[in-house]
Amino acid sequence: MEITMAHGSGGRASAELMARVFGKYFRNDILDRMEDSAVLEACGKIAFSTDSFVVSPPVFAGGDIGKLSICGTVNDLLMMGAVPEYIACGFILEEGLDIALLEKVVESMANTANEAGVKIVAGDTKVVEGRGGLYINTSGLGRIPEGRNVSAANIKDGDIVLLSGNLGDHHACVLSARMGIRSSIKSDCACLGDITKALFEGGVCVSAMRDVTRGGIGTVLNELAEASGCGIELDESEIPISSEVKGFCSILGLDPLYMGNEGKMVAFVPQQDAEKALALVKSTGNGKNAAAIGKAVKGKGVVIKTRLGGTRIVDVLQGEGLPRIC
Ligand code: MG
Repeated sequence: MEITMAHGSGGRASAELMARVFGKYFRNDILDRMEDSAVLEACGKIAFSTDSFVVSPPVFAGGDIGKLSICGTVNDLLMMGAVPEYIACGFILEEGLDIALLEKVVESMANTANEAGVKIVAGDTKVVEGRGGLYINTSGLGRIPEGRNVSAANIKDGDIVLLSGNLGDHHACVLSARMGIRSSIKSDCACLGDITKALFEGGVCVSAMRDVTRGGIGTVLNELAEASGCGIELDESEIPISSEVKGFCSILGLDPLYMGNEGKMVAFVPQQDAEKALALVKSTGNGKNAAAIGKAVKGKGVVIKTRLGGTRIVDVLQGEGLPRIC
C-alpha cells in the first residue's frame, strides 16, 4: 500500500495510518495522552537541538533514515555534555511512499530511541505531492548535569584531539548505494552515548566535543578552531581509516577528511587526561578504533603533518560535497 493525499487529510485515513504505523511503535506514558503538546518535567540547564533528514536512499547498509534521525539529534545533545531525554519528530511524506517502508523506518526510530534511552513524546505527519519520498525532522531535549560545561570555547592550546574511530564509512556507504557499486562498507550510523558516558563517568575533564558529520573532520575541526581561537595540528598517520574506505577513496579520488560520518566524534581533552580518556573511549562499542590524532596549538586554522613529513593546510569543505548524505 502507498501513501495517498488522504493520509494527510487529518480524517479517517490519517487516523488509520496513525494507529497502524506510528501508534504501533511509538508508545510511552507521555505520547499516549495524545494531547496538543507533551508536558515534560525539566529543571536546570537544558540542551535543545533540531535536525532534518533527507538521506537518499532511505535505507542503506548499517541503517536507514529513521535510525539516522534519532542518532543525529541524540548525538548533537550528547556533544554538549547533555543526557538526551526527549525527542519530537515531524514527518513529511510524499504521495506514493510505500507504507511498508514507512513502517520499517518508524520501527527503526523506535528501536534506536529505546537503545539511546530517549522518549519520542511529540510528532506530526504531513503528506505532499511527489514521488514517494520521505523526510524527517527531529528535535531533542537533554538535561545537562550540574557542573558540566562542554563548549568549543573551552578548547585550550595543548588539548589533545581524540577521534572515536574510522572516517568516511557513512559517506562511502551512501555513495556506493547511489552509484550501484557493490561494497562491504556499512554506515557507521550510531548514537554515541556509550562514549560520552565513559568519558564523564571516568572523570575526564572534557573541553569540547563535536560529532563529525556532513563536511567531514576537515570542516568540523576548522569550525572548532575558529570558535576556540586556537589552531589545530593533526598527524595524518594517526587518523584511522578502514582499508575498504581507503580503497574506495583512491578509486574515486575522495579525501576522507571531507567525508561525512554519522557515528563519529572528536573530543578535546587536557593533555594530562589524554591517555586515560583514549583508553576509556576505546573500551566502548562505538570507540574501539579511537585514536589521538592531534592537538590544539597557539595560532589559527588546521594543519596536518603528512605521512611524507610535510605539512599542509586543511581548509573547510569547498563546494557542495555529497548532497542528501544525511
Ligand atoms: Mg553536530
